[in-house]
Amino acid sequence: MNTIMKTNSLIPFLKRRDAESAEKRGVSLSSLRCFATSAPLRLLVAALFFYGATAQAKLNLVVTTPDLAAIAKEVGGDQVEITTLARPTEDPHFVDAKPSFIVKLNKADALIEGGAELEIGWLSPLLNGARNAKIQPGQPGRILCSEGIAMREVPTVLDRSKGDLHAAGNPHFIVDPLNARIVAQHLADAFGKLDAKSAEKFRANFDKFASALDAKMVEWQKTMAPLKGREVVAYHNSWLYFAEGFGLKIEFFLEPKPGIPPSPAHLAEVMAKMKETNARVVIVDPYLNRQTAETAARGTGATVLDVAQFPGGVKGTDGGYIALMDYLVNSLAKALGEKK
Ligand SMILES: [Zn+2]
Repeated sequence: MNTIMKTNSLIPFLKRRDAESAEKRGVSLSSLRCFATSAPLRLLVAALFFYGATAQAKLNLVVTTPDLAAIAKEVGGDQVEITTLARPTEDPHFVDAKPSFIVKLNKADALIEGGAELEIGWLSPLLNGARNAKIQPGQPGRILCSEGIAMREVPTVLDRSKGDLHAAGNPHFIVDPLNARIVAQHLADAFGKLDAKSAEKFRANFDKFASALDAKMVEWQKTMAPLKGREVVAYHNSWLYFAEGFGLKIEFFLEPKPGIPPSPAHLAEVMAKMKETNARVVIVDPYLNRQTAETAARGTGATVLDVAQFPGGVKGTDGGYIALMDYLVNSLAKALGEKK
């Protein structure tokens, strides 16, 4: 985007400057035109226009997490260039903030973030370093995906004193496909404002993604229907929206609070609840301690299932959001079916 704007604004300026200097030097405009048709200059002008046209086609997006990036790709299609900051196997609360991110943010047309304090621990210093007016809060280039989402577990009083990572509500909302749909629509609108010429394309991409999601939703609900009300234990409280979307109960966590490591006393308490409620599956994300999950499962006859919130976080989910949800629904249904 930057290049074409620069190129376009530069051309009238160059013409004007050439005309002025030609006048001073007593050179006629027609002789200048003659010079402009010389082969090397023609090549230069053609290259400038070609580069400008290529650069114009893409919105340069920086996205905090791979789930949002996957949806941005569905909606943005060929019209966007995406840089994702968190790796699929990385804890979104604690992303390794590399200096190279500052350069990416400096050049971005837009920043897409989850919000609800998901990125509060690592994004602010990067943004301060990036010095990019386009992605400041309130600008069209600052896209907050939590906007329009019915946020859950929002505390009435903000309290981070006990290290709670979810002090502004539960920020892991994308694993409910209905929320993914809302985010996709939000992105289509936001991209359309940033690149009005492609707005129709973004809308069409959204429609296509939403139709695929709607069709899959019927299939996923059918798979999960016999498992309604089943208890699943999670390590971190990042599965609330998924549980609600599919009628599961995920209410016991190996962490006593989001971000607080499990203590032996807390684990014993969770294991007692697992036996009481017949919770037979413990789900664990790639960046959490699988051994702790195995301990809880061993003591209760449960099984451990590797899950991820991000496409690519577990094997076979590289294909995008729908591939990830396919894995989550099918692997959970299988694990729950085997462990009754
Ligand atoms: Zn969390």
